[in-house]
Amino acid sequence: MTRKVKGILLRVGPTIHEEKVLTILTEQMGCITVFAKSGRKKTQYDQFYYGEWVLYETGGGNFLLNSFSLEEPFHGLKERMEDTFLAGYFAQIVLHFCKGEPRETGILLPLLLNGLYLLGKGRASLLVKGVFELKTMQLMGYCPSLAPCAHPGGHFALEDGSILCDACALPRKTLPLSATTVAAMAHILNHPAAKAYSFSIPHEEQVLLSKLTEAFLLYHLDFKSSALEMWKTIYEG
Ligand SMILES: [Zn+2]
Repeated sequence: MTRKVKGILLRVGPTIHEEKVLTILTEQMGCITVFAKSGRKKTQYDQFYYGEWVLYETGGGNFLLNSFSLEEPFHGLKERMEDTFLAGYFAQIVLHFCKGEPRETGILLPLLLNGLYLLGKGRASLLVKGVFELKTMQLMGYCPSLAPCAHPGGHFALEDGSILCDACALPRKTLPLSATTVAAMAHILNHPAAKAYSFSIPHEEQVLLSKLTEAFLLYHLDFKSSALEMWKTIYEG
């Protein structure tokens, strides 16, 4: 059976028995593994290529690549090394969730496409990173509550994303936050993927937002990202 799906190539894996193993994020089916003949009849594809994949589904439920029509190569990402690594980090986050229930990851496709597009256009990378991290966590079932304790406070609890005063924060693992970052996180949580990126905050607030969303993600996921480490080396370099 042949089927057509729109999706983005997240990973070009090793060649096994003359077939490359591709991991593609699609909206309808989530992450799928596709085998592509690496010999003759070469189809051009690369990481982050988005377009229509024509697949042949075998009786055993495997997908073989028939052809691919490129719609968006995201070439802009390759112009700045830091963007290449940040995009690689986004891909690693999605791939992490693909290990669990791959079908549900389809919901991340519009968020990823928007994020990569904005990075390629030169949008502030800290802001794109913060939005992608927090919205992904929300969509995958880890939503920070942003609920305040009974007193005014400036601490973000990594466990449940509540906002705590000095006394309440004492026994918990927290990071300092500002009124602007609370508003930014509320915007991200309250808007769909297409609009989650559409706000601006000063650079120092972006630095704080990115720290908070990254710490929240890493606190909840059993996840290490080589691309994130590389991005930090270059970005903070
Ligand atoms: Zn309190």
